[in-house]
Amino acid sequence: MPEIPLTEETLTVAGLSEAEVLARIFPRLDMGGSHGSATLLGPGDDAAIVSAPDGRTLISIDTQTQDQDFRPEWPSGYRTTGFDVGWKAAAQNLSDINAMGGAATSLVVSLTLPPEIPVSWVVDLADGLTAAIRELGASHCSVAGGDLGRGREISVTVAVLGTLSGGMAVLRSGARSGDVVALAGTAGRAAAGLALLESETSVQSLTPAQRALVELQCRPRPPLSAGPLARAAGATAMLDISDGLVRDGGRLAAASGVVLDLDPAALKPLAEALRPASDLLAADPMAWVLGGGEDHGLLATFPPGVRLPPGFTAIGSVQAPGSTTGPGVTIAGHAVGTGGWDHFAD
Ligand SMILES: [Mg+2]
Repeated sequence: MPEIPLTEETLTVAGLSEAEVLARIFPRLDMGGSHGSATLLGPGDDAAIVSAPDGRTLISIDTQTQDQDFRPEWPSGYRTTGFDVGWKAAAQNLSDINAMGGAATSLVVSLTLPPEIPVSWVVDLADGLTAAIRELGASHCSVAGGDLGRGREISVTVAVLGTLSGGMAVLRSGARSGDVVALAGTAGRAAAGLALLESETSVQSLTPAQRALVELQCRPRPPLSAGPLARAAGATAMLDISDGLVRDGGRLAAASGVVLDLDPAALKPLAEALRPASDLLAADPMAWVLGGGEDHGLLATFPPGVRLPPGFTAIGSVQAPGSTTGPGVTIAGHAVGTGGWDHFAD
């Protein structure tokens, strides 16, 4: 019986060797070699060689696993694309370098794929990686290498290297009483998008404003220029919000031994931006602002009187812990985790 010729759409990774899959991915990636790239030797040997411009290297790693971090298909009917997964894998890692005040120089990618995954999905993933690097503005970042393997579920691990360009890293531990608390980027939008994906309302029927929230969940947009700008402006502490403003703010507060007191008036516009989703789902938008992660906005503290760098908005102040209360996050002096904020307790 004659075999049906496989097109790129029906071809699965099981039908190709590792080298054949890589041959389709590599042309879609920026593998370095251009002027200013840290990659001195790209894929082809047993290891890549990258330069460490100031003698130090920032390094971080993050994994996304099917059904843990994303669903192939959501209750709303949305199907996660390879482009989404590639974008998010790059964005999360680029954000961690941004949160130190650095700039990403290289990514290393490890892909685990079930045999039935179409090759087109994998090519799409490579395009998502490349698009995130370019569109988010990680202009000196290239893909230095990677690994491809078989498994029962999709898993994408990205390690990122970065440089501080001669400067000091901004840690979580430097906030001092009297500092200004500021936010760059968004908060709560990815969580609102997640709630829309998880709802039974068909993604097809969403308004453009609602769809924009879904897109931010699938393809987050960390403010990559804000980290180095905050460092240059003298930020005393910083992290990126991956698990929620209150939870990550609590981590910064604990590391610094301070209280971050947030201003409800400054949080209100963040919640208002989520109305397209909260009205549809009859949800409390402030819950997404305070508890939602994955926007990868930057939370930073600055010495009093410092002019905040572009992109940052003041949302509170740093205070010394009280005699009975330890480090943590408060809203207008009220501890988060009491009264109306119970559901945000760790
Ligand atoms: Mg982080």
